[in-house]
Amino acid sequence: MSERPDGPLPDGVVRRQFPGDDEPRLATRGEPVYGEPVEDGWRRWDATRSKLGATFEKGLDTGLEDGDAVLYLGAANGTTVSHVADFAGPTYAVEFAPRPTRDLVGVAEDRPNLFPLLKDARKPANYAHVVESDLDAVVQDVATRGQARVALENRRFLADDGRLVAAIKARSEDVTKDPRAVFDRVLNELREGYEILDTARLEPFHEDHLALVATPKR
Ligand code: SAM
Repeated sequence: MSERPDGPLPDGVVRRQFPGDDEPRLATRGEPVYGEPVEDGWRRWDATRSKLGATFEKGLDTGLEDGDAVLYLGAANGTTVSHVADFAGPTYAVEFAPRPTRDLVGVAEDRPNLFPLLKDARKPANYAHVVESDLDAVVQDVATRGQARVALENRRFLADDGRLVAAIKARSEDVTKDPRAVFDRVLNELREGYEILDTARLEPFHEDHLALVATPKR
């Protein structure tokens, strides 16, 4: 487990003091999306509303860099993927629920590098013709049963040295089990196709979530 505040950030993600905050917060440069404060073009990235934001706050080395080509799974209405598209290169955003995808399309209007895809992340063959291969990163936040399987199915898009940056929600797998047992099971399943580089629980930002960084197993 990792507890390292101030871990590495992509250049396009900064820590910045916003009025009313007791300490600097993450921020990216872009058009606002969810009512977040903006100062000098920097939008505050609310880690309590974003598992990836919390992953950065917990100090994990995600390996994410400016200009990366990213596949984002579970984009919902675009809260987190909007921040990703602010610093990344081409950002393919998969979401299977039509309603949030409508909002996501609006978020993409200001971001020419953001490509919303109304698709099921368990069926990557349905978007393989659109998403480029050899991606730098797959970012996953699907909060559904079978989270390891989703990550394994989408490994095909990653470059050999690419990264999986995933948030695993224990309750989506099994509400009755101790989250630690759920995380162990998910990590073991992931090891079929990935080498796990680092993990961290996302409390106090998100209860019973595990963030992980992994790379395709050779
Ligand atoms: N990542 C979002 C953010 O931080 O802005 C929040 C994501 S929410 C926790 C999980 C999302 O994953 C939901 O919008 C849900 O519809 C979507 N999802 C769940 N299973 C999916 C699947 N198989 N394919 C695509 N999207 C899926």
